[in-house]
Amino acid sequence: MTPVTMLVTGGAGFIGANFIQYWLKNNLNDCIVVLDALTYAGNIENLAPVKHNTHFTFVHGNICDTALVEKLLRSHNINTIVHFAAESHVDRSITGPDAFIETNIVGTHSLLKAAKTIWIDEPKSNGKSILDHRFHHVSTDEVYGTLLPQDPAFAETTAYAPNSPYAASKAAADHLVRAYHHTYGLEVTTSNCSNNYGPYHFPEKLIPLIITNILMNKPLPVYGDGKQIRDWLYVDDHARGIELVLNRGRIGESYNIGGNNEWQNIDIVNLVCDLLNDAFNHNSKLKMRFPSATSAAVGNAQALISYVEDRAGHDRRYAIDATKTSLELGYNPKESFESGIRKTLEWYLDNESWWQLCIEKAERDSSV
Ligand code: NAD
Repeated sequence: MTPVTMLVTGGAGFIGANFIQYWLKNNLNDCIVVLDALTYAGNIENLAPVKHNTHFTFVHGNICDTALVEKLLRSHNINTIVHFAAESHVDRSITGPDAFIETNIVGTHSLLKAAKTIWIDEPKSNGKSILDHRFHHVSTDEVYGTLLPQDPAFAETTAYAPNSPYAASKAAADHLVRAYHHTYGLEVTTSNCSNNYGPYHFPEKLIPLIITNILMNKPLPVYGDGKQIRDWLYVDDHARGIELVLNRGRIGESYNIGGNNEWQNIDIVNLVCDLLNDAFNHNSKLKMRFPSATSAAVGNAQALISYVEDRAGHDRRYAIDATKTSLELGYNPKESFESGIRKTLEWYLDNESWWQLCIEKAERDSSV
């Protein structure tokens, strides 16, 4: 199916923006239309590197607006949807689940309905064959619930057991995607990925939160005993995984994407502290650029660690078994954690204005 004209939902968010930059660099004949509501997590600046690319179009709008989605599918001859748009922060899903139900469930259903209308129903009612198409849904390992230390990692066959409103809303969306394939023949694939990290990651999530708080000499909040385990994947490896699923994945199937890289939260926090202590030690200019970062400047960012009450219902461990994706599609993460985390750190050191604006925006939003 080449060339691809792709609708990317949520393309102004963290993973969507990295995916778009990756895709346009590696698939020169393809076109991308982004649909994004620019919530607090969406930032048009994340797409600045591609904004002059003639193969790129940005549309400000909501995935719940089915008529708008239908219009975009028709007017741009879209044959592929890659669906990232979501409310994505577990803590926010605990304090305000409604937005998660609306975007993650109702919004996904709106996209499925529009895709079915344009790709299947309209051609059929005009006596034509259905259009070549693909609906790829980007999901999470959190739909599988939580693991004990000795449990095997989540496989695609693991029963769903979502524990947070966020995970439950993503699980519901996964089921709707599956049902639209089974019932209506919509050509879908789903990928379930572990925790991503890298550039453009909103500074409310663990790794960018720790980096930016050290640079502002603010406390580093660690939930409970800090021993929750997550698998971490560099965001470009997620983009490559999705590309493989789009190019080689079997219709109707789900594919796990992971980093084979389990870390306790407290170890991640200590690692980031060590790297920044070291960076300040070896680069005297950093002290001038970040005069607030006094703890890191004296080689002791760890002094900022502050244990806080655990998140309600906090899952203890996630781990991904990506054997199916690796055997069927040839997927393996390329970036080592050591190089990925260094790249990420450098990006945050070089892009202070970006993350300061994110923090201001989040504060403005929460005070409304
Ligand atoms: P993000 O919160 O950074 O970005 C979400 C984007 O969606 C934002 O640009 C936002 O403006 C947009 N959006 C939100 N509601 C919308 C709506 N109703 N209509 C249109 N746009 C809307 O999220 P992310 O971390 O980039 O995650 C992207 C996807 O990947 C999500 O579906 C998430 O569940 C999934 N995922 C994330 C991770 C991770 O580690 N971040 C891991 C696995 C899967």
